[in-house]
Amino acid sequence: MATRQAQRRHMPRARAPLELAGCERIAWPQVEALLDLLPDGALVVDAEGQVQFANAAMQALCGHSPAALAGGPLTQLLPPEFREHHHQHMQRFLAQPQRRAMGQVPALHLWHRDGLRIPVDISLGLLRRGAQALTLAVIRDTRDLEAIHERLRQLAMHDSLTGLFSRAMFGELLSQAVGQLQRGGPSLAVLLVDLDDFKAVNDGHGHHVGDALLQEVARRMRQVLRHGDALARLGGDEFAVLLRDASEAGQALWVAQKLVETLSQPWQASHHEIFPGASVGIVFAPQDGADADTLMRHADLAMYRAKEAGRNTYAVFDQRMARQMEERTLLHGRLKRAIEGDALRLHYQPQLCARRGTVVGVEALLRWHDPVLGEVSPARFIAVAEQSGLIQRLGDWVTEAACRQIAQWQTQGLRLRVAINISAQQLRQPHFAARLQQTLARWQVAPERLELEITETAAMTHREQAEELLQQLADLGVALALDDFGTGYSSLGHLRQLPISRLKMDRSFIQGITHEAADAMLARAVIGLARTLGKTVVAEGVEQEAQREFLCREGCDELQGWLFSQAVPAEELPALLQRLGALQQHGGWRA
Ligand code: C2E
Ligand code: MG
Ligand code: MG
Repeated sequence: MATRQAQRRHMPRARAPLELAGCERIAWPQVEALLDLLPDGALVVDAEGQVQFANAAMQALCGHSPAALAGGPLTQLLPPEFREHHHQHMQRFLAQPQRRAMGQVPALHLWHRDGLRIPVDISLGLLRRGAQALTLAVIRDTRDLEAIHERLRQLAMHDSLTGLFSRAMFGELLSQAVGQLQRGGPSLAVLLVDLDDFKAVNDGHGHHVGDALLQEVARRMRQVLRHGDALARLGGDEFAVLLRDASEAGQALWVAQKLVETLSQPWQASHHEIFPGASVGIVFAPQDGADADTLMRHADLAMYRAKEAGRNTYAVFDQRMARQMEERTLLHGRLKRAIEGDALRLHYQPQLCARRGTVVGVEALLRWHDPVLGEVSPARFIAVAEQSGLIQRLGDWVTEAACRQIAQWQTQGLRLRVAINISAQQLRQPHFAARLQQTLARWQVAPERLELEITETAAMTHREQAEELLQQLADLGVALALDDFGTGYSSLGHLRQLPISRLKMDRSFIQGITHEAADAMLARAVIGLARTLGKTVVAEGVEQEAQREFLCREGCDELQGWLFSQAVPAEELPALLQRLGALQQHGGWRA
């Protein structure tokens, strides 16, 4: 109470009632009592900047007792560097007083008696006592808030699993570095690192192993980098490195090489040895992009190039990649329209029995004529469809069209086996076998009329799943062929287990069989292997009579290629079959 008494001595006309803007008159002691109840600090300040009253909470906030504050200048509560500015601010305020709520002015600080700057928020209210204008400042300690804010910032700026910078932080750092570049800073490099087959680790070993692997990757990457380099996890299995001084391009390549090396080292996870592997895309600034977004997009393109080049390697961005990307985007857009519209066709290429020359089946090959792009070869658009996920719809279109054609030929009395190409991604479609069965049923097509050509690589990756699915398909009764055989890396044991009836020897072997000893030997070996495994072997891309003779001599079962015919539209097939049949009957066929 003694303090209160002392304080009141400083209050001029202390007994005069106080007028709150828009309120009734209140007696001063009541105001004091009310302000003392506030958890926030409160100051009543006059037009000269003298503190007229300080409430009890001010003590904890600034270290001065309310009594010591009262009668003193407000400026003692301001950090020295703000005093001048505050004076001007107060003059403006007094000339045109306005109430102000909390949260309007950022970065306000109070000068604590111990010399600390306390972050606060301040609201301002207007009081009037007689002719005297007073200001009520309510001051809130925001130290807790700041701490929470800082923690949130830390969380947003760091990846919680690895402790590396987050995508947001990396974006900020990169933007800053690009800004410095414009002011003459040294050139910089961004390395985008994507783990190879990380999904397989997650799927195969569980997420806890996946997480531990990501932490291990972060640890290994840190060891390769220098102190000033920034390392971030952008999300999933994607990491990024910012090399702030890449004046020596060789240095960036060296880092990329080291990253690839260290990430391909085996890693021991509880009971398994995992080989992580990574693909790295590199961009340099300023030459590869003037802003952070462009640089990241270009780094992404380079990273995909590294993946295409067989993974576990790095690639440096060049402008051709951007042009190819544009082409892909264009192809993707046009292809989508083609699937919805009527621009796709299946053409059919005959497959002949090598011994008798009779046509035993046809392979359906997609043809696309686009009004803008002209004829686009499947070699170009299948890859785009696979990368963009369009392959699912494209594959459905092919299956449907082929079944419709088989049904139509059936009614014409033409009983042919039709092979369609199935992409690896289609095999991963859920319920692939069940949906195929429905399509066959809808067109009343006997399953053995349809053959699925699956590439060797598709059948050999994710082996167990592939094996199970192929078994389901074989149980349906459809025939299965292994396409492009010889270009993958089938293990014999696995090959034996697959319910596949035909091996299609890749065209690249056939090309040289008549003049390259190595090709001839390989072709012989494939034919021998097929025989041992009890499978039929089909040679693709037979263009010359000499090749046909060689293949017949070596015991190849079936032949396909331009020597007999290119793929033709469905309506031309009956005539083609007649021509080939006539050739066979008139002795044009010598086994
Ligand atoms: P593939 O399944 O190995 O098809 C054989 C390719 O070799 C076809 O090329 C065919 O026209 C070509 N060919 C056939 N005989 C000869 C020959 O004697 N000499 C030469 N040089 N080439 C010959 P195409 O039609 O350009 O297809 C290329 C690839 O595109 C196919 O290879 C297949 O992997 C893919 N493809 C084609 N149609 C489809 C489809 O409907 N779905 C899927 N997923 N892929 C398809
Ligand atoms: Mg094929
Ligand atoms: Mg093939």
